[in-house]
Amino acid sequence: MPHPLDVPPSHPFSPANLPYGVFRGTDGRSAPAVAIGDGLLDLGVLAARSAFDGAVPGADALFGGPTLRPFMAAGAPAWAGVRRRLAELVSPACPDLRGDPELLARAWRSRGEVTMLLPTEIGDYTDFYASRQHATNVGIMFRGPENALMPNWLHLPVGYHGRASSIVVDGTPIRRPHGQLQTGDAPPTFGPSRQLDFELEVGFFMGPGNALGEPIPVERAHEHIFGFVLVNDWSARDIQRWEYVPLGPFLGKNFATSISPWVVPLEALLPYRVAGPAQEPAPLPYLADPEPWSFDVALEVSVAPPGAGPKVVCRSNLRHLYWNVRQMVAHHTSGGCNLRPGDLLASGTISGPDPDSFGSLLELAWRGTRPVDVGSGAERTFLADGDRVTMSGRAGSGDAVVGFGEVSGVILPA
Ligand code: CA
Repeated sequence: MPHPLDVPPSHPFSPANLPYGVFRGTDGRSAPAVAIGDGLLDLGVLAARSAFDGAVPGADALFGGPTLRPFMAAGAPAWAGVRRRLAELVSPACPDLRGDPELLARAWRSRGEVTMLLPTEIGDYTDFYASRQHATNVGIMFRGPENALMPNWLHLPVGYHGRASSIVVDGTPIRRPHGQLQTGDAPPTFGPSRQLDFELEVGFFMGPGNALGEPIPVERAHEHIFGFVLVNDWSARDIQRWEYVPLGPFLGKNFATSISPWVVPLEALLPYRVAGPAQEPAPLPYLADPEPWSFDVALEVSVAPPGAGPKVVCRSNLRHLYWNVRQMVAHHTSGGCNLRPGDLLASGTISGPDPDSFGSLLELAWRGTRPVDVGSGAERTFLADGDRVTMSGRAGSGDAVVGFGEVSGVILPA
């Protein structure tokens, strides 16, 4: 049997990744951890046993509690120091962990035997609308091809303040929401949503924030980004369509948002930085990013009808986003709004140019007109009770992979 720290570079959680999360063990204790291969290392145990001494000042305080928030708040130098030290600890040449079977036994857990929790208490959640293809598709469906993009869209990353309290971790079942529904000229009724949908997104956790009134400049914005997760921003299209005028999404969005449990560090994604789509017209100076800050991350969505296996219905990529993550942070803070450690910012639905790269059923089934084959003879225009939706993501391929893992959720009846 191979050593649990011997993980090939083709593994999604290889030493090139080292994503962070929070787990609850069989003893009921919760602690921050780093994933390595099919296991994890308990960062609370490692810090308490002085594994970071000399490398990262104050590491005890960063990992002593049940969330990653103190570590997120610590900033880029601490992130780099911990990451360097972890890469050393898992390497075959380092005896500190491999040569201490008692410490290794206390710190290592099989991921199959733990429960993953949210990585931090999330103070605020913001959702953008940063995919041009998604905004165009929705615009065509609801307003026609002439005015598909609203006049503001190419000038700023459109977003809204979402609901943090209903963000749940991978595996949490999603209850179909009730809400007001209205069709034609009839008065509204109250009942279960009949147009429940997923939205394929990527989110990122904020590290150090900014003081109220002090914007983060675009060229420094990456220093505030801790890491990335997959986001399924569940949406009830029928509730949304009736309620959203004039203040935007509300109950159609706030019943649940699912995230993957492992936060992929920004540093792990740097080898996969790419230029995003050309931005024309040029953004205003405060928003113009002179550097390429998109990422090549392949994304997939599968739907499994009740009692059947999963069928992939969407293949997209993070690089399709028109606005990049630095621009989202710069725009969000440009008016003086303060972001705080542990805040979650999400991209909005990531749709690519091809019909099978659309990131929601609304688009894949084109507002109900083109039912989507979900396998086992089943078709969907929107989600049915018992459907399981799973999103996955990975950068790289072959012998160099940085995986995001999965975010999955099953629909419960209203
Ligand atoms: Ca969304």
